[in-house]
Amino acid sequence: MHVSQTFIPTRREVPADAVIASHRLMFRAGMIRKLANGLFAYLPLGLRAFRKVEQIIREEMDAIGALELKPPVMAPGEIWKESGRWEAMGDAMLRAQNRAGADLVVSPTAEEAFTALVRDELSSYRQLPLLLYQINTKYRDELRPRYGVMRGREFVMKDAYSYHAGEAGLDETYQAMGRAYRRIFKRCGLSVIPVRADSGAMGGSGSEEFMVESVIGDNTLILCNACDYAANVEKAACRPDHPDPAALLPLEPIDTPGVKTIEELCVFLQTTAKDCIKTLIYRVRQAELDLSGAPGCAGLLRRKNAPDAPEVYPEVFVAALIRGDLDINEAKLAGVLKAPEIALAADVDVVRLTGAPVGFAGPVGLRSLPVIADESVSAMTCAVTGALAADRHYRHTAYGRDFSPWMLTDLRTVRAKDRCPVCGGELYEKKGNELGHIFKLGYKYTRSMGVHFLDENGKARVPVMGSYGIGVDRALASVIEEHHDERGIIWPLAVAPYQAVIVPIKYTGPVKATADRLTVELEAQGVETLLDDRDERPGVKFNDADLIGIPYRIVVGDKNLSGGVPKVEFKHRKDTGSQLLEVPKAAETIAGLLRGELTQLRREYT
Ligand code: ATP
Ligand code: MG
Repeated sequence: MHVSQTFIPTRREVPADAVIASHRLMFRAGMIRKLANGLFAYLPLGLRAFRKVEQIIREEMDAIGALELKPPVMAPGEIWKESGRWEAMGDAMLRAQNRAGADLVVSPTAEEAFTALVRDELSSYRQLPLLLYQINTKYRDELRPRYGVMRGREFVMKDAYSYHAGEAGLDETYQAMGRAYRRIFKRCGLSVIPVRADSGAMGGSGSEEFMVESVIGDNTLILCNACDYAANVEKAACRPDHPDPAALLPLEPIDTPGVKTIEELCVFLQTTAKDCIKTLIYRVRQAELDLSGAPGCAGLLRRKNAPDAPEVYPEVFVAALIRGDLDINEAKLAGVLKAPEIALAADVDVVRLTGAPVGFAGPVGLRSLPVIADESVSAMTCAVTGALAADRHYRHTAYGRDFSPWMLTDLRTVRAKDRCPVCGGELYEKKGNELGHIFKLGYKYTRSMGVHFLDENGKARVPVMGSYGIGVDRALASVIEEHHDERGIIWPLAVAPYQAVIVPIKYTGPVKATADRLTVELEAQGVETLLDDRDERPGVKFNDADLIGIPYRIVVGDKNLSGGVPKVEFKHRKDTGSQLLEVPKAAETIAGLLRGELTQLRREYT
């Protein structure tokens, strides 16, 4: 391809909002242009790289037997109402109405669309398992689109969905997907950190996220310095670090006028947060956990949101306890309650339930709601805690003597320096960006949307489901994040928009003839080649070649053509040194090199 005949508008300057390398470089290399906030056009060079990533994903999906479909991007609102996500998605989902007034959704993800399809086609266990995928446009009305295509509003996701007669089949596909994801990222030249992830309230037993380390990452990863434990902070666990139990002293109410927060309490009582119990009241919606028999829950009614759905409590309140120097992990609390949605209770509810102003809640005598305590509390034998009355606290509160929670479990937000739950090593934190996610979804969608099949015994059953996503744009941008220098992109061969670029020093005479000939020969050998035929100074062409980052660069100049066998200069974008190749053998040598490198890569990932 001649540069003059394609459209690669390179730039020196960068837009003010391009704060990360990939955004700057994708703009400067003429790969993308912004149409509006969160909406990007891929130009020819960007699209070529995009298609490479897409194709790697497609090959690996096909290799594990996933079947590609192309559903519409627009989905009927109806199916989102069936699944219960019409409300739950909130403003992130873009909605529209057609001329007949029917609700439509611009798909932000497609569990509903695939499940509706499967519902209509599935009848027998013989059709299972089903593993389907698409590589298709998604729209999410992200509050703050940023970092270029890393977090756009419109983006392309590979999303796969699997349906199984039982958990064993789901497990098998989930494992195969995990292996396919590792190959995909490896082939793209991406160093990913697979982490254990929160599987959400309705989730089944497994969820793994594929993260790339990034200072702008939205996720906190917890890693062990001694073993390979790695988890999203939402999921991370740690070994308990109970201090030695303190001596038991009689429970003592004390006046604490206006002292509401742990910090104020520590100052007022000359104590440390480690010696206080934090009590937080949460409002919980759609909890599936059976709370009959729990304090304050007598008479609460459960209901089904769909015929096959489990019974849930529309709304309940719980108190969560944790040692004062630690924080409640709300994802863990939601998981324990099997609830999709929890939030701190409003002040009026706190006052109503605790009989005290906000800031004086505590477990002693608290019977109006279930108390769920983090394990850290079980070792506290001489703690300060709210006394359920204005301006009052207790000191010397002892777990087991003065109160017993309804449930004791892990609710703690793990931090750096906590101990690894697997080996006891020291944990540390990294910031990461999610590139992909594999997820055992369980029965959430198949139940709520009424999917059934007949098993071997002719009995109607609900299939279990998995979902598996990768952001194509984000993966592409992440490749650039990982592979660039101050001059530009350094494409890994497998995703490079072109594999070779020919830079004639000036595009006339014998130089032009050699450059043209090499282009034809390289293309004939299957090397994707760009010929910079522009009438520009060599410096401009070299800078652009470095900026757009094509792996192999061939410079054709008068000097090397004259005297003896004509030669051209060959250089890897990633290396500093170059070598001279004889023109008659150049194309074959380069093609051989390319084949060798691609074979080597294949060996590494298979
Ligand atoms: P995030 O927490 O980053 O918003 P998510 O948890 O919402 O991601 P999923 O719903 O699991 O993401 O979507 C699957 C994949 O789609 C993500 O791993 C990511 O690669 C990609 N993705 C999600 N949102 C965006 C976006 N706004 N722009 C580009 N890619 C995205
Ligand atoms: Mg998101």
